[in-house]
Amino acid sequence: MSLRIVVCVKYVPDATGDRHFADDLTVDREDVDGLLSELDEYAVEQALQIAGNADDAEVTVLTVGPEDAKDALRKALSMGADKAVHVEDDDLHGTDAIGTSLVLAKAVEKTGYDLVVCGMASTDGTMGVLPALLSERLGVPQVTLLSEVSVEDGKVTGRRDGDAATEQLQAALPAVVSVTDQSGEARYPSFKGIMAAKKKPVQSLDLDDLDIDADEVGLEGSWTKVDEAAERPARTAGTIVKDEGEGAKQLAEFLAGQKFI
Ligand SMILES: Cc1cc2nc3c(=O)[nH]c(=O)nc-3n(C[C@H](O)[C@H](O)[C@H](O)COP(=O)(O)OP(=O)(O)OC[C@H]3O[C@@H](n4cnc5c(N)ncnc54)[C@H](O)[C@@H]3O)c2cc1C
Repeated sequence: MSLRIVVCVKYVPDATGDRHFADDLTVDREDVDGLLSELDEYAVEQALQIAGNADDAEVTVLTVGPEDAKDALRKALSMGADKAVHVEDDDLHGTDAIGTSLVLAKAVEKTGYDLVVCGMASTDGTMGVLPALLSERLGVPQVTLLSEVSVEDGKVTGRRDGDAATEQLQAALPAVVSVTDQSGEARYPSFKGIMAAKKKPVQSLDLDDLDIDADEVGLEGSWTKVDEAAERPARTAGTIVKDEGEGAKQLAEFLAGQKFI
């Protein structure tokens, strides 16, 4: 039977561009350029390698995000995934991690899966909690933060490198795993892959399709709420110490004034 792998990928605001909060203190996702979270490229890569080593496998990439999140799906499809699922609904605006895990779990169940592969964290929220929340919702084992992962005989096996020890972990499928940025360089999409991706299926789902009520998600349904947010002040030019014989003294005085020495 075919090994069904679902990879959760997030569309995130481009960290090199200007990022802002919207009036309701949510991240402004409408007026900024976005892209496939870099850390999720590692998840796609590992899923493709696992699929390549299986007799028969299918890789589905899944995102919960706005219209433009299709760009993230296209990138993953051009890397080699077989199909994509995009969950999009106006009522998702403001959904927190708990709500996102509900939507992802329902979409994973609807798609059908043996293995869910996530990144170690998104590059915007960076909570790193989604894989654990997802495994709890699905009622399957989680094996997280793997730097090496493989599937054999209905089991997923992986290596987790910690500060004090390296662990070899195993779980029976179905399971949820997350992989780190040490798991292996993600491939670049080839020209052939980019062209092929245009013809691959992208299924769109909304909350109704997933039997989720609007009040279970969105700002109202969220367990967490942002009360206050302030953008980081713009960088200033800094202090320039010109060395006209007293440079070292001035530098020491400056550092002492800032309590660095
Ligand atoms: C349109 C939109 C509006 C949102 N508004 C808010 C808000 O106002 N307040 C708030 O607290 N949160 C909001 N969220 C949710 C938030 O951005 C995160 O998706 C969620 O809280 C998970 O936290 P994280 O990004 O830190 O995930 P992490 O736990 O760091 O992510 C780990 C892994 O989970 C998977 N993953 C995470 N998010 C997604 C996703 N959306 N789709 C597919 N896979 C995913 C990826 O594999 C990722 O590498 C919104 C999300 C969307 C899409």
